[in-house]
Amino acid sequence: MKVLVIGSGGREHALCWSLRRGGSASRIFCAPGNAGLSDAAECVNIGATDVGTLADFAEREGVELTIPGGESPLAAGLADEFNRRGLAVAGPTREAARLESSKAFAKEFMLRHGVPTARHRVAASPAEAREILRGGEFGDEDSPVVVKADGLAAGKGVVVARDRAEAESAVIEMMEGGRVGDAACVVVIEEALQGREASLLLWTDGRDYKLMPPARDHKRVGEGDTGPNTGGMGAVTASDVLDERTLRTAVREIVEPTLEGARAESLDFRGVLFVGLMLTDEGPRVLEYNVRFGDPETQAILVRLRSDLYPIFDSVARGGLGRVNVEWGEDPSACVVLAARGYPEKPETGARIEGLEAAAGVEGVQIFHAGTRRAEDGSIVTAGGRVLGVTSTGATLDDALARCYDSASRIRWDGMHYRRDIGSFR
Ligand code: AMP
Repeated sequence: MKVLVIGSGGREHALCWSLRRGGSASRIFCAPGNAGLSDAAECVNIGATDVGTLADFAEREGVELTIPGGESPLAAGLADEFNRRGLAVAGPTREAARLESSKAFAKEFMLRHGVPTARHRVAASPAEAREILRGGEFGDEDSPVVVKADGLAAGKGVVVARDRAEAESAVIEMMEGGRVGDAACVVVIEEALQGREASLLLWTDGRDYKLMPPARDHKRVGEGDTGPNTGGMGAVTASDVLDERTLRTAVREIVEPTLEGARAESLDFRGVLFVGLMLTDEGPRVLEYNVRFGDPETQAILVRLRSDLYPIFDSVARGGLGRVNVEWGEDPSACVVLAARGYPEKPETGARIEGLEAAAGVEGVQIFHAGTRRAEDGSIVTAGGRVLGVTSTGATLDDALARCYDSASRIRWDGMHYRRDIGSFR
């Protein structure tokens, strides 16, 4: 079985590693991949959104299954093109991917299907946004309120404003200041919710679904959840991320109505659905949908997978997920992201990474590469902001974290930084 994974980050390394471990994929390609994942897959030099060239490659090589990692290939119509050519692909069509690529679309979808989420309004101009903010619907001038760019904005499209003035400047920055490019032609203004967050991920073939262990991530760069937002500095899976009762509520009130809603609207949703939740006093509320695995949640989730990943994704693409056995290890897990100096604003690249072998020797640890490259002399150097994801399971979450930090302490490069408080949530 030949499989093609699309993307180049830690998430894609974890996908390739898990496929290799599962055993039924005979050849694993990753486009474009990165230096560190070449132990698990053959890197193919095609960009992740170069849809036509990726489909040509899949046809030429006789690839049986394609797994997109991130959202941009999906928003670029990758699944539509693969479907058109009769190539199996485990991801939603561009239309279904709007659950992630348009926040306004996602909110209206949730309203139509009674999925609990924060109250919202959509504004198509700064004047309209200002009118909504001043209208009092979301509290007075001292109330927190959330402003979201409608489109894909690589983590920069959400501002949780402390008061109305901050919200109004976020609107201006987004809609007129070019903060997120074209993503903010429209903005969503939303009630600010309070609570703990959790991420619930699942596979679906459009009919059946299989849940993954609930995860939680840390978005801010600094300890104590300070500093700017990042793609994610670490993630954990543990039983207390989402208790059994809340999980059942989330499945009944959120997961099932979402999948039924997609079917009712003839959205071809096959792939991974990621539901970002706020656990409020009134119950779980959806913060956002993603239509693919998260990074670094994937790393923390997949180290717990006991089953072969290939048949899971194969049935996601072709149907029959209900008959596939998906087993998880009981032990909690953690992923600690090691980042480059300057991340997230302006990461430095080109620093030589030492100690990888010693770090990989810590029992139970997997090191997933995100921003790395092989230099001419054969050494591994940094090539992005998030460089490595040190990942482990453990008998307890503390054990998993201790293994990650033991391993991380053996790695060095000029400018390396990481959070020492992954797994402790305020
Ligand atoms: P999103 O991309 O929509 O998940 O937003 C990114 C982050 O912003 C979330 O993980 C939350 O921490 C925060 N956030 C988003 N929406 C809300 C909301 N309605 N109330 C409070 N925080 C929010």
